[in-house]
Amino acid sequence: MLYQRSSQLFVEAAKVIPGGVNSPVRAFKAVGGTPIFVKEAKGAYLYDEDGNRLIDYINSWGPMLLGHAYEPVVNAVIEKAKKGTSFGMPTELETQIAALAVSMVPNIDKIRFVNSGTEACMSAIRLARGYTKRDKIVKFSGCYHGHSDSFLIAAGSGLSTFGVPNSPGVTEGTAKDTLLAAYNDIENIKALFAANKDQIAAVIIEPVAGNMGCIPPKEGFLKDLRTVCSENGTLLIFDEVMTGFRLAKGGAQELFNIQADIVCFGKVIGGGLPVGAFAACNEIMDYLAPVGPVYQAGTLSGNPLAMAAGFEMLKQINSDQELFARLEEKTAYLENGIREKLTENNVVFTVNRVGSMISVHFDANPVCDFKTAANGDNETFKKFFHGLLKEGVYIAPSAYETWFITDALTYEDLDFTIKAVGKVAKEL
Ligand SMILES: *Cc1c(COP(=O)(O)O)cnc(C)c1O
Repeated sequence: MLYQRSSQLFVEAAKVIPGGVNSPVRAFKAVGGTPIFVKEAKGAYLYDEDGNRLIDYINSWGPMLLGHAYEPVVNAVIEKAKKGTSFGMPTELETQIAALAVSMVPNIDKIRFVNSGTEACMSAIRLARGYTKRDKIVKFSGCYHGHSDSFLIAAGSGLSTFGVPNSPGVTEGTAKDTLLAAYNDIENIKALFAANKDQIAAVIIEPVAGNMGCIPPKEGFLKDLRTVCSENGTLLIFDEVMTGFRLAKGGAQELFNIQADIVCFGKVIGGGLPVGAFAACNEIMDYLAPVGPVYQAGTLSGNPLAMAAGFEMLKQINSDQELFARLEEKTAYLENGIREKLTENNVVFTVNRVGSMISVHFDANPVCDFKTAANGDNETFKKFFHGLLKEGVYIAPSAYETWFITDALTYEDLDFTIKAVGKVAKEL
């Protein structure tokens, strides 16, 4: 495949945009080469500026659960746009999508819409701090909750009590209120609570981690975490920006039957437009302005185009009783195919999967936290990535990313992909 035009476009982009991209994960830093510029997309396929067709396993990093340019969503946006694109005043549509989301997700009474997952998580911890009147939060190494200051804390040793900023620009004052924990390690959490008694406002977690590959929670881990939080008057925040409306209608809360105190959304909830949201029971949500004292706002929050796309997306998910079973079957089929091809070719690997989230790690050992995720062989991953790309299969350009399976994939696409994995595996 040729990437001449993409390469030229990247050179032009880099002159006026830092690194040529508006979000760092789009650059090919971890795998080498230059990013591919997309011209258009439909269903499971991307079409790039050089005329190549790629089967897409990123799907905008999650949102396109039903495929690109999904007609009901596209039509809803077009019709809405004709009637005005932003008012800064309430619309009925906002109540409709809120009511639908509340009906689909367990344990929430009210939801507030924002413009990104970052905003959702940032607002959720402010709300938790305001509600509990405590300052500290706990996050897990390797979990991503957007790029607001409190979350940009290095993945240090699991035992470290105080975080250190890993991005210049995050002050030490901010970093010291973020405590780091090791994913899937309940003893570590208990130690943090013991050392910070009555100071922890919230624990925020990806209930299935998706930003260090796909890492499922160990049996009982979320339940134990729930218990520890309840015992300490600490709010449990599920960051379901990836898992929400993807793993089940009600997300990870439904899948694992665990109730979080605050839930964050993004990605799928916007149907491909910029939407985030956070939700909780009445008592917590009523701490938000204008009812309560915790301030949170947004000029374009609840934007009619974004709400039209999100509402249509949620309606489709809510009315399709077979959707999650189909996604499970397709992803399991892909998983089995990948396992078979890599095993046949004596490649050392681990595959993790929960529903339509899956990741391939080039390491023989179980991958269950950030430390083990970092053990993978990046040279092999690079070859795997570029090999698949040559075959017309696009996975995320980093070994730390999950593949997001879309319902638009056919079994032909999956067979094509498995065959490509077989070809590439021969050369690993
Ligand atoms: C993507 C992501 C975010 C950030 O969402 P943005 O819309 O990129 O700001 C937060 N949390 C998780 C779990 C994510 O995967």
